[in-house]
Amino acid sequence: MPSSENDEIYLRQALAEANDAEANGEVPVGAIVVHGDKIIGRGQNRVLRDSDPTAHAEIVALREAGLALKNYRLEDCTLYVTLEPCAMCAGAILHARIARLVYAAPDPKAGACGSVLSVMNHPQLNHKVEVTPNLLAEECSTLLTTFFRKRRQEKSQARILQNDAATEKTPEKAPRETLIASKKKKATKKVTKPATKKTPAKKKSLASHL
Ligand code: ZN
Repeated sequence: MPSSENDEIYLRQALAEANDAEANGEVPVGAIVVHGDKIIGRGQNRVLRDSDPTAHAEIVALREAGLALKNYRLEDCTLYVTLEPCAMCAGAILHARIARLVYAAPDPKAGACGSVLSVMNHPQLNHKVEVTPNLLAEECSTLLTTFFRKRRQEKSQARILQNDAATEKTPEKAPRETLIASKKKKATKKVTKPATKKTPAKKKSLASHL
């Protein structure tokens, strides 16, 4: 088990994984598993890339660590993760018999180490994990809040563009409808003429491509 003096160094490795996840369009969460002084598992959130709801950073790192030790029990290992584990990951950490867990930001929405649920170190469960929370918490939660803020801005920007496109179409339709309603045949012809002229031209250019 690595000494707690190196916790920040290892947690920064998990943070690097989180940044890489963000660069790939995923929610930035990263994790690593350390055995002795060796990193034996690295993971980053990849649920979108893999279409896999279980592909949380912790699970990915635990799988790699299990393969490295050729053992599904990861006793004497420490798991470092940038966000408080959810119920699924807390369960996996317990099944793996991880000795120590170091995490950065608490997760008030899904954290299972006390924030929402207390799966980790539940009094009725046998395996106890030494938990060190809130290391580099500010840095890691800023990473997440900035990510979600950016995503919200992108979504509202896309909505504005959609609305703009919709309102650009309506003024064209509106006069045509009113013109038809007032039976001004000449005016409607003016509107429809350029449209009929354009269509054969388009067909020609398409045909030339074929
Ligand atoms: Zn999880």
